[in-house]
Amino acid sequence: MIKKTVSEIRQMLGLKNENTMVDEVAVKGVCIDSRQVEAGNLFIPLVGERVNGHAYADMALANGAAAMLWNVNEPNPPKDAAVILVEDTAAALWRLAGAYRLLCHYKTVGITGSNGKTSTKDMVAGVLSERYRVMKTQGNHNNEIGVPLTLLSFDEDIDVAVVEMGMENRHEIEALCEIVKPDIGIITNVGVAHLENLGSMANIAKAKCELIEGLHNGSAFFYNGDDPYLGQEIPSHDLRQLRVQTFGEGEHNDCRLTSFSQHHEGITFTLSLTDQTFSCNILGRHQAMNGCAAYLAGHELGMSDDEIQRGFQRVETTSMRNELSSVGKWLVLNDAYKSNPQSALAALATFDQIKGGNRIAVLGDMLDLGETSPMLHEQLGRDCAKFKLDKVFCLGPLAEYIAKGAKAAGISDVRHFIERDELLAALLAETDHEATVLFKGSRGMKLDEIFDQIKEKV
Ligand code: ATP
Ligand code: MG
Repeated sequence: MIKKTVSEIRQMLGLKNENTMVDEVAVKGVCIDSRQVEAGNLFIPLVGERVNGHAYADMALANGAAAMLWNVNEPNPPKDAAVILVEDTAAALWRLAGAYRLLCHYKTVGITGSNGKTSTKDMVAGVLSERYRVMKTQGNHNNEIGVPLTLLSFDEDIDVAVVEMGMENRHEIEALCEIVKPDIGIITNVGVAHLENLGSMANIAKAKCELIEGLHNGSAFFYNGDDPYLGQEIPSHDLRQLRVQTFGEGEHNDCRLTSFSQHHEGITFTLSLTDQTFSCNILGRHQAMNGCAAYLAGHELGMSDDEIQRGFQRVETTSMRNELSSVGKWLVLNDAYKSNPQSALAALATFDQIKGGNRIAVLGDMLDLGETSPMLHEQLGRDCAKFKLDKVFCLGPLAEYIAKGAKAAGISDVRHFIERDELLAALLAETDHEATVLFKGSRGMKLDEIFDQIKEKV
């Protein structure tokens, strides 16, 4: 994490040095939440829509904050504390992260895409950690606040930083690249996420591809060569100064998935670039796709195939994505972290490989899909017929269209629920029998809480 004195932080923020008593105060790490401040932190109070962090300065100090930023127009900065006055604390957070990044000499892997950023980030970091000192984005901190905090959380002397970069609108990836300065760029795919904001799939692809413009000459750039939207967008970018490799299933890819198998403990796969077999404690063919990107990153940084395979054993995943667990007579695949058409299909395909008992898919609304949402839900329902499913339970107003599609496609036991309690009761009635159950829905549908309630009762 960042370790600087107050005077150094002032310099990094472009502020004049004041030669005050507090100049030599040492700061380690930054924190924006007064409740999570740890001894020595620089507290950065942000002004949000509902909460103004400046109101919690005392708590931050009580928790051990060594210093804090303070908006000049906020009244009553704490007395007897090391306070650095700034025009705007959010802008200062951004500036500090950018300045800190410039002091660090590690290589940075920047990852964006509609699905699989966090999974790919975890895989890349796991693989690279076999050879290098690596730090990565914690959890899902991938936005205009999470990314600067992430950069400030990295130690100055690591070898590689792996940074997840998210976006909901145009020019957000462009802006993030200005502080992240990636040396290796990865785009996982373009899917129907944030369609509401961006209006079209082509616009989503454009927004992701801002990453390309954020790479410097000589950078490596890896992307999913099967993705039709990337296929259309990428030719409009000048890639001549980049070392580009595609990954995917199609013959034309530089790094192609050549074989894949899944067992309860994880996946095993091979790639066209090497004879090595890779295995990883993670589920889903889509994760082998993310694994291709991780392989390319390891290869780019000079790792041998053997080292890369050992690196795949070190992957530590972020929770709620594709978690398989036993509950009573059930085997449950919990993938209730987020949902959109692509990730729901990926979850169904992963689920398809898990055998046993009644096969029940619990599918919730996929949110933020814009005006084509009913059609996309109905299509998902129809797609359910491609998989071995005995029952499809749908939750939420949009999921009614999933139910409609699933019925039309010939699945006999399809039920739709608006009330969570009714879904819970229907699921509890199934717990007497052996079953394999998938939970998949947007985060806002909180299907994981229904799963938790079942765990309590079984
Ligand atoms: P967010 O936008 O919330 O940060 P993310 O891009 O980081 O999401 P993950 O958290 O890695 O994505 O995965 C989200 C969901 O997408 C999970 O259900 C996961 O199983 C699925 N997923 C992961 N990788 C892929 C992929 N390559 N293709 C399709 N689905 C994927
Ligand atoms: Mg993520």
